[in-house]
Amino acid sequence: MSHFDDLAPCPLAVKGCEALRAIGWLERGRPYAHGDVDERFFESLVQLLVHPWQPAAAAGRHSCSLCKFIGGPGQITYKDTTITLGSANVFVPGNGVIYVAPSLLVHYVDAHDYQPPSEFVEAVLRCPPMRSMEYLRQLKAIGGTALVNARKGM
Ligand SMILES: [Zn+2]
Repeated sequence: MSHFDDLAPCPLAVKGCEALRAIGWLERGRPYAHGDVDERFFESLVQLLVHPWQPAAAAGRHSCSLCKFIGGPGQITYKDTTITLGSANVFVPGNGVIYVAPSLLVHYVDAHDYQPPSEFVEAVLRCPPMRSMEYLRQLKAIGGTALVNARKGM
């Protein structure tokens, strides 16, 4: 899996969408922010990952390089909600940017003490329901038209 610094322009960018910012692309041996997170944030993140909107087909399974042997879990269950980890990314509209994080983000937060930037935490907490009209409207408004349209070609 690729490593990007938090808030760096994300080279996964769909052509024509410069607004993407990387969150949580962790890799063993690279420093990352540690600390507590509000459980409401974790719960919101899990909900966004139940059926995350994707602009393009998934590029195969990512594994967790911070886990020593097993590459992290393929799914987790939190409060009766089970989500699949490792292949999808989650796109979260922010203030003029669109955050893109690997689904393993929830595992990094839960198991590896990762603390995402506060601006991302706030964006997750106010993110409209995944796949709602409002969610897609916000992505487009921020410059994600290319991102949204890329999906139509799939
Ligand atoms: Zn891990």
